[in-house]
Amino acid sequence: MSLASDVLAPGRWRLSTRLVLLSLLLLLVVQLLSLAAVSLSIERNARQQLGEQLEVGTRIWLRLLDQRATKLAQGAAVLAADYGFRSAVGSDDRETIASALENHGARIGAAVAALLDTRFELRAAHPADAERAGALGLLAPRLSQAASAAGGAGGGSLIAMVGSRPMQFVMVPLRSPLLVGWVVMGFDLDAAVVNDLQAVSGLQGSLVLSTPGSPPRILQTSLPEGSPARPLALAPSANEGHAWVQRRIPVSSGDGGAVTLQLAGPLEEALEPYAGLRLVLLGLTAAGVLLFAVGNVWSARRVTQPLSSLAEASQRLGQGDYASPVEHQSRGDEIGDLARAFEHMRVNIAANEREIRQLAYWDRLTGLPNRVQFRDAVSDAITRASPPQARTLAVLMLDLDRFKHVNDVLGYASGDQLLRGVAARLQPLVDEAGPAGALLARLGGDEFALLLPGADAERAQAMATFIAKAFEAPLSLDDQAVDLSAAMGIACWPEHAPQGTPSEAADMLLSRAEVAMYAAKRRISGALLFDSSLDSGSAQTLSLLGELRRAVDEGQLRLFLQPKVAVRGRRLCGAEALVRWQHPQRGLVPPMQFIPFAEQTGFVRQLTLWVFEDAARRQAAVRALGLQRVSVNLSTRDLMDQELPEKLALLLARHGASADGFCLEITESAIMDDPARAEATINRLAAAGFKLSIDDFGTGYSSLAYLKRLPVNELKIDKSFVMGMTDGEGDAKIVRSTIDLAHNMGLSVVAEGVENADILARLDTMGCDEAQGYHLSRPLPWDAFAAWSAQWSAALQNDEARQA
Ligand code: C2E
Ligand code: MG
Ligand code: MG
Repeated sequence: MSLASDVLAPGRWRLSTRLVLLSLLLLLVVQLLSLAAVSLSIERNARQQLGEQLEVGTRIWLRLLDQRATKLAQGAAVLAADYGFRSAVGSDDRETIASALENHGARIGAAVAALLDTRFELRAAHPADAERAGALGLLAPRLSQAASAAGGAGGGSLIAMVGSRPMQFVMVPLRSPLLVGWVVMGFDLDAAVVNDLQAVSGLQGSLVLSTPGSPPRILQTSLPEGSPARPLALAPSANEGHAWVQRRIPVSSGDGGAVTLQLAGPLEEALEPYAGLRLVLLGLTAAGVLLFAVGNVWSARRVTQPLSSLAEASQRLGQGDYASPVEHQSRGDEIGDLARAFEHMRVNIAANEREIRQLAYWDRLTGLPNRVQFRDAVSDAITRASPPQARTLAVLMLDLDRFKHVNDVLGYASGDQLLRGVAARLQPLVDEAGPAGALLARLGGDEFALLLPGADAERAQAMATFIAKAFEAPLSLDDQAVDLSAAMGIACWPEHAPQGTPSEAADMLLSRAEVAMYAAKRRISGALLFDSSLDSGSAQTLSLLGELRRAVDEGQLRLFLQPKVAVRGRRLCGAEALVRWQHPQRGLVPPMQFIPFAEQTGFVRQLTLWVFEDAARRQAAVRALGLQRVSVNLSTRDLMDQELPEKLALLLARHGASADGFCLEITESAIMDDPARAEATINRLAAAGFKLSIDDFGTGYSSLAYLKRLPVNELKIDKSFVMGMTDGEGDAKIVRSTIDLAHNMGLSVVAEGVENADILARLDTMGCDEAQGYHLSRPLPWDAFAAWSAQWSAALQNDEARQA
């Protein structure tokens, strides 16, 4: 069946069927009505004709009965005129009278012959049986009436019942020359008579007797035995207007009951001449309906078939198939118009769709697939790798370091150029070293992602190493060389997203690769494989939180100090407090393995207070070493804590320390999470006398213009820029311009990550204020720090003495 009929809800009729059925129904009604009208008039006609025929028939029957009576009367008149008979009547010769009656009666076939006197008294009869004689006596008055009605001398005729038999009587006067009596002859109205009448008239007739108080009875009939008209003759009302047409005429009435002549003709016979006509009419009707149906189906199809094909076309459009052109465009009618409108729409939608797909699935800047396409690709890859294939796949997510800074310092055009350059560097790598079906995408900002079908964690790690290697060579933007580095997070399927539908697993995989990537960013380590400890919701996390609590309670934390030295003169001017965890099993754990987690869970606030208190406790000792202040790191959570200033004040008071001996380091991202609240805390901390420093400057998204509003004293350039100064000019340029900007804003500048003398020398020429780094010293526990400090001061004094 066609698509269009699928579109129709079940139980609904197709349009063509409805059109055809409706018009056929109308035609049928009209045809049937006219057929009925014709039939009705045919029947009326037939009935009328039959009625007329019966009318004529009854007249014929009556006439025939009359004729018969005349004939019988003539026979009786011959006897009445007989001289011998008249003499016998005159002489009352009873014997002669009887024999004359018998002979004459027999000659004309009379059933009874009789002689009445002038007063209608019976004088003689043959046969002389009592019944007929009695009947004649009874009949006499009616006979005389009939005689006088017939003109007296001519006699009269009469039909009457004698016993149970109908008889016809005639009576003639006997004159000699005066009236001396009456000759009466009676004849049986038997079957022969009736059949005769039928033969002459061609109509079926019956004589019916109706006696009051008893049912009517057929006396004689020409109807054959078993004819349906027989019962009708008895109960005429039963057939009013039906298969038989009847006519009845009373022929006698008297004491014996009324006799009716009833003629009947079957309607069927009257209709017979019309049967042919009816058949022709029926045939014409059927042929008309058939022709009409065929024509209608054809024309309905011509309308509905293109409609269904247009419906199919619109359904295809609805399903996103814009490829096949719409049919029936060449037609010149309304359907052609509709088809052309559809086609126009299809072409437009197809063009829009192409554009939208381009926008929806591709990154305009780099021409790489975008996040939407990447996610779909991961989901598809999971579907393909699912059992029974049982293959693995990995997602590697990559975030460029310091991209924001490139944007800020070198401008957005350079930023775009950088992103295109990174894409251009990654794509051939993926093509050459990636597995079949590997896909590179830009997810947004400075985030890229790789789908590695068939890869496991090891293969993905190898790919990450490969990328890191490829990033070693700086990228040149116009005449600038910019160092490339990126944090990478890896998540593998099925390990890291074992549940859910392919698309849920894809989302999970992406989010876990992202978690790993951010962890890598915080740890300044190139690539990290996802691990549930990175995820704050996992079971491992909960047990880690318990361990951390114990670490504080059971004194497993250690405060390390890393010296900060004035670049000009190299004098020790401060130290940064950095926490370490002396884990009973794992040994000395670096902060990057628990600080991010502590930040996620909020526990970092206790850690900060522990570090601050430890530093406050040592303030006097630190000052004795000649240090102005100790820097303590604050996290986002600390900044959001409204009571932090009070808590710190309490600790200062507890250890008799002062706020001006502290510098609080805040990262840009900590401020940007909720600038309003952070600002409020920072203002209160500054008011309490703490120095404030922006840590890891250049990795976040804040602008100097914004930071200027805050009561900050110091800017710490992130070590990734400082360490990169020796490799390419890009980083050096960033460091230099940051120093200049900060100085213009009245901030002092600290460079962290000073790993060699070369960097230190260059920072010196750039006018950087302080330096911190492995070249000077690694973070040290208190005793070692005190020893280092003594050594450093001694060496410095020696130098000064030598120079002097
Ligand atoms: P940060 O505040 O930027 O601290 C400087 C980090 O750079 C320290 O790492 C330090 O050891 C490292 N560093 C110093 N000089 C060099 C160098 O020349 N080369 C290299 N490669 N690294 C150098 P650490 O101690 O591992 O701390 C890492 C981060 O953990 C810190 O970064 C800070 O954000 C966080 N952290 C450490 N202790 C605390 C703490 O007590 N509280 C809070 N909230 N965060 C802390
Ligand atoms: Mg710091
Ligand atoms: Mg830092």
